[in-house]
Amino acid sequence: MTNTDTTATAAPKGRGRRHTRLADVDPSATLLDVRDLKVEFRTRYGIARAVNGVSFSVEAGETLAILGESGCGKSVTAQAIMGIVDSPPGFVTGGEVRYRGVDLLKLSRQERRKARADRLAMIFQDALSALNPVFSVGFQLGEVFRFHRGMSRADARKKAIELLDLVNIPAARQRVSDYPHQFSGGMRQRVMIAMALALDPDVLIADEPTTALDVTVQAQIMNLLAELQRDLNMGMILITHDMGVVADVADKISVMYAGKVVERADVHDIYADPAHPYTKALLESIPRVDLKGQQLNVIKGLPPALTDLPRGCNFAPRCRYARDRCREDTPHLYQVTTPGGDGSGRTPRGSACHYWEEVVAQ
Ligand code: SF4
Repeated sequence: MTNTDTTATAAPKGRGRRHTRLADVDPSATLLDVRDLKVEFRTRYGIARAVNGVSFSVEAGETLAILGESGCGKSVTAQAIMGIVDSPPGFVTGGEVRYRGVDLLKLSRQERRKARADRLAMIFQDALSALNPVFSVGFQLGEVFRFHRGMSRADARKKAIELLDLVNIPAARQRVSDYPHQFSGGMRQRVMIAMALALDPDVLIADEPTTALDVTVQAQIMNLLAELQRDLNMGMILITHDMGVVADVADKISVMYAGKVVERADVHDIYADPAHPYTKALLESIPRVDLKGQQLNVIKGLPPALTDLPRGCNFAPRCRYARDRCREDTPHLYQVTTPGGDGSGRTPRGSACHYWEEVVAQ
């Protein structure tokens, strides 16, 4: 049996344990402040350090994109924030997840559930498997209001129609009784967005919300998310492996590799002057219409096994800038100062590369 509420998995147990309370939130504190978060999976092959000291923050009305290849720890970071890491085998082993100053990792299980319902919401990757096929979308949306707000069935249905309208489902009143399979992929993702927004969250985490969709629908969903985030003044964390998706939507970016943030910056700085070889390689691998006929750049090799991380820099085996020092000496997040990122941006720029100046210069 698994415990999907990770609040109790890594913190000290028993009488000495002290809980924080949601009632103690400080409205002037940072909306979401993640500090040195660590998550590991204890498997038969060893301990997989999926998230290894990740820090970032999000303010109201701001969008942070977390970028990286599959398996780099993006989704596990999101699950740890939400408190839904499968445990065992997953354990949050360190760090803080502060919502308006209150560490969510120290909330009681009941309070954590309340935070998940009222303050934070998550949109999952695959809308088809996230929706229950045997209930209408109206029933599933209404259930949120019946369960968390104690609404009558009729009132919950009205709220469900309002939400479907909000996410631009045409003829919402007629479609509210339809089942998930009667909606297209893009429409189902809109229903998932509606469900996430039902209780007016302050923080919305969208985990690869457009992965299963074609490019036209992808753009529609991203525009819808950006519009809703602006109108509702939410803090949004957008998780993706696609740098092309985030350019128009994100305010700032954290690039993850092998469970760590390897670069962070405001969005325009990162596109103008990538300061980590991995970010640079990700940008170079975006297909470009003006390079038609030329071979697409790819990042050769695979990310390291999280159960057996190499010494020194985790990116060294794939890095074209690597030299001997990289294989011995683990780079910390150096402060980066470039013409595009001289500290005038909202995000302090950082790159976990010993040779970031050389990377920027080339
Ligand atoms: Fe490449 Fe070395 Fe920088 Fe790591 S520290 S990204 S191996 S140059």
